[in-house]
Amino acid sequence: MSHYLNCKLCPRECGVNRSESPGFCGQSDKIKIARVGLHMWEEPPVSGEKGSGTVFFSGCQMRCVFCQNYEISQLGKGYIITENQLADGFLKLRDMGAENINLVSPTPFLPSVLRALDICRHRLNIPIIMNSGGYEKPETVNMLKGYIDVYLPDFKYFSPERALKYSGAKDYPEIAQNAIKAMFEQVGKPVFDERGMIKKGMIVRHLILPGGRHDSVNVIKKLREMFEPRDILLSLMRQYTPMYRAKEFKEIDRRVSTFEYNSVLKEAVSAGFEGFTQDDGAVGEEYVPEFRDRE
Ligand code: SF4
Repeated sequence: MSHYLNCKLCPRECGVNRSESPGFCGQSDKIKIARVGLHMWEEPPVSGEKGSGTVFFSGCQMRCVFCQNYEISQLGKGYIITENQLADGFLKLRDMGAENINLVSPTPFLPSVLRALDICRHRLNIPIIMNSGGYEKPETVNMLKGYIDVYLPDFKYFSPERALKYSGAKDYPEIAQNAIKAMFEQVGKPVFDERGMIKKGMIVRHLILPGGRHDSVNVIKKLREMFEPRDILLSLMRQYTPMYRAKEFKEIDRRVSTFEYNSVLKEAVSAGFEGFTQDDGAVGEEYVPEFRDRE
């Protein structure tokens, strides 16, 4: 529990004792999750035929004004479970046929998640994925060595001003770059099984925002400086739908245009990255994952 006594797990470095009061993420020292289930809407080598075994953790170290999952990340939706119950959840997902265990925004609870994995990972035999907004300390990423097979980090912004405006984290671009480097050092280039499911490696995700194509192009250029094209996979996401507080920011209170999307896609292709894109049919609220209550 020592990490929770003076919590500096993420770049917010609150230094609070989470058994007494929550930090910026809003979470105590008890694991809180919002949903456990098979999820079909990840990239094809992650979801496969049976679905990715996702566990959505409550709270977040970011404050994205357009967050699709804001009820979970920012409004505290979820329920408390123990490490043993979390381990049971992982095993149940495997029994349901999950292609992998997909930890969605687990950072505030990582010490507990690792203990839950210690309880059950010898019986899991499927890849463990860390699905993260990319706002991570390298030291925290290093804690995960040997536990995580596949990283799915976002690289949301190149511009510190945009990162501050839309996610409350001016230092995000630099921190995300260092986190992504640390993740790559652990897992290396993508490795797939005979069915094309990812076993090891990293898929960097980038959500294109309305009015943000120049920033998106800069994100891709930076990735190309950091990596050779075959080092990573790139997932360009165009499913942005104005949600939560997006209406307070007129310039992002719309969907991404085809022109914006194509401009960013062109840069990704010219950089030589392989990866994933979404077609037009994926755009819309129907694509936004639905989060159910415990029952
Ligand atoms: S995990 Fe939460 S309490 Fe800990 S440093 Fe990050 S925001 Fe603060």
